Amino acid sequence: MLARDAVFLEDLCPKSRVRRWRQSLHTFTGQSCIYCGKPSESIDHVLPRSRGGMSITENCVPACLACNGHKSNTDAFDWYRRQKFYDPRRAMALRAWTEGDLRLALKLLEWAKPNQIEHQKNSKRKIEQDWSLQAA
Ligand SMILES: [Zn+2]
Repeated sequence: MLARDAVFLEDLCPKSRVRRWRQSLHTFTGQSCIYCGKPSESIDHVLPRSRGGMSITENCVPACLACNGHKSNTDAFDWYRRQKFYDPRRAMALRAWTEGDLRLALKLLEWAKPNQIEHQKNSKRKIEQDWSLQAA
């Protein structure tokens, strides 16, 4: 699937432009997969090309090879909802991205950064526990 995408993109525009475009997509998300946050190694078509999806920024997101391969030809939103690593913030980011609002998408992705969020939640819970102990 990846090789076929590359050929298609290169047919559309000169090679170096495509490479720069793909690279800029990866840079947007800090080289991380829009679905799971792991390093992005490929560009995934949100609406698969086999279903009429185009090779434009709004339809192309950085993805790791595992997500890209696993998602295959299914609808990105349906597929993503069924994943263990599903995160509503990332789903919203994906939606914003496909609507061309990259700024909102990036903001949502920042919130969804793994570990960081979990860490904040845990420390907040810890503070609340400490408080309730003191009150008791
Ligand atoms: Zn992934």
